[in-house]
Amino acid sequence: MTILEHPLAADLLTILRDKETEPPEFRQIAERLGYLLVAEALSDMATTDVDIETPLEATTGTQMRRPVVAVAVLRAGLGLLHSVLTLVPDAAIGFAGVQRNEETAEPMEYYTKFPELSAARVLILEPMLATGGSLSWAIDKVKENGALDIVAVCVVAAPQGVEAIETSHPDVRVVAASLDRELNPNFYIAPGLGDMGDRLFGTL
Ligand code: URA
Repeated sequence: MTILEHPLAADLLTILRDKETEPPEFRQIAERLGYLLVAEALSDMATTDVDIETPLEATTGTQMRRPVVAVAVLRAGLGLLHSVLTLVPDAAIGFAGVQRNEETAEPMEYYTKFPELSAARVLILEPMLATGGSLSWAIDKVKENGALDIVAVCVVAAPQGVEAIETSHPDVRVVAASLDRELNPNFYIAPGLGDMGDRLFGTL
């Protein structure tokens, strides 16, 4: 697992945690934090040399390997989608619709749609890694559809969720802005930031 160690990430996360932050600002701040998370999730990407000419002389630059795919776990994952598309405009996008059973916290699928995954770095956008149930389900799904190179992009993770993913999918790197203290009895991450989907979209 990789925790972002960056003062700007901590600054942005503090705004997200603050219950006074309203959806318009929350969405913007989530997108800005997403840039740092996505950059970290791509930090080990292979590159290829390319010959170019600057206005002054010929030189060799590098290009990041493609393709990149982002899979947004609905609905909170949508909050990080623009960060991927701004940094990697040619990324293809998949969707994984899963609803948490509020009593058991088990994932229930309602929609999936994926682009070609087998050659891609697949970023699974799952901002709140709580029990790990939804993320583990989404990883199973992308693997069933050919994904081999997977990084989970989270805003906040709970120890229980990280342990669940490390056990069920040890090949998947988890990138997060914070490893929080615990999962509370209602399966919310504490201190956390509340329900990410509600805070992004203004629902209750
Ligand atoms: N999902 C959320 O949005 N928040 C949590 O704290 C846990 C799961």
